[in-house]
Amino acid sequence: MRKEILILGGGYGGLLSALSARQHLTEDEATITLINRVPSHQIITELHRLAAGNVAEKAVALPLAKLLKGKSVNVVVGEVQTIDVAGKRVSLGDGTSYRYDNLVLALGSETNYFGIPGLQENSLTLKSVADANRVFNHVKDRIKAYAASKNKADATFVIGGGGLTGVELVGELADELPGICRQYGVDFADVSISLVEAMPTILPIFSPELIQRATSSLEARGVEFLTGLAITEVNGNVVTLKDGRTIETNTLVWTGGVQGSSLVGSCGIEVNRGRATVNEYLQSTSHPEVFLAGDCAVVFAPEGRPYPPTAQLAWQMGELAGANIAAQIKNAKMDTFSPVFSGTLASLGRKDGIGAIGGSGIELKGTPASLMKKASNARYLSHINGLFSLAY
Ligand code: NAD
Repeated sequence: MRKEILILGGGYGGLLSALSARQHLTEDEATITLINRVPSHQIITELHRLAAGNVAEKAVALPLAKLLKGKSVNVVVGEVQTIDVAGKRVSLGDGTSYRYDNLVLALGSETNYFGIPGLQENSLTLKSVADANRVFNHVKDRIKAYAASKNKADATFVIGGGGLTGVELVGELADELPGICRQYGVDFADVSISLVEAMPTILPIFSPELIQRATSSLEARGVEFLTGLAITEVNGNVVTLKDGRTIETNTLVWTGGVQGSSLVGSCGIEVNRGRATVNEYLQSTSHPEVFLAGDCAVVFAPEGRPYPPTAQLAWQMGELAGANIAAQIKNAKMDTFSPVFSGTLASLGRKDGIGAIGGSGIELKGTPASLMKKASNARYLSHINGLFSLAY
């Protein structure tokens, strides 16, 4: 009997699991339906560029309907409201519901505000194309407002969090703000760009040499680093730091942390700190017909530490989840998950970057890192295109 496969989420994990499942299953064997909040597959690793107006939206928001046209995957645009794992049914905000035999949960992550008073109400985030557009329009509006008002808070930009998201965003802003200022007749010397990081250093995943490189490259372009200083409260446009100092700003972008999707965390499958736990085949440890891909799940490395929630992990999980669902349906042997890490690359604006190539000890800085980051994006796009043409 034909199985119903439901995939929740059209990001890296969801898209790849749909394509991979379809590669292994005919239309007679399974119907595949992918549900996503928005009509596009979003290249979220490039959002920092959209947020600074350095890339066109169409380069980072690829229409799912177009990507999956003729590929025997149904695309539903809608907001998942409830996941009933006991009744094997998913309901959307518009009142429709979908039954499944096999489910992939690939709903990604959410911003973590850590309960900091006033933070959520008074900050922007960078988790989607809509967020990135909001940041760009907001930044332009603040510079325009400053041209008229000379209110210092309009020319003060604060990024909370010095992980990869915060640093990549600040790099782009440092490159693009001088041009935006020129457009509105504002002297860039009036602008202040600060990155606040709670830990003693930004980007602790890199070597001290690369951290130094990132810091000095960004400082040279006007970024001020406030490290070892957590944001403890936000009251309207006043940001308070751990040492009691305050910054008055009309732009706070919060990139200080992520947590698993709350829908997945509360749907009744087994979780660890809000993220679904999986076995070696990427099945839920409590519900074997449910597979997981991406940030909403936690995968532990052999030494017991959780892998960080990255696009490359989501992509690899999606491919295996799709293949293993097919194996489960056909009563064949499933494969175990053994992720390959190609390394970490951080862009520091248009022309600079740093990178550590997976496991090799090779470090990159400047143009090679920047080009490698572009190549890694191109590689992903060509990979999904390859899978599209392979899908029958
Ligand atoms: P993160 O959790 O990696 O970084 C958040 C940073 O905010 C941390 O350094 C933390 O110390 C800091 N912070 C927390 N509370 C704070 C506070 N109150 N005040 C000031 N700073 C505070 O989050 P992220 O950067 O969004 O990254 C999330 C995941 O996505 C990571 O696994 C990352 O590797 C991945 N990612 C990868 C890339 C890339 O490969 N280029 C880009 C973006 C994100």
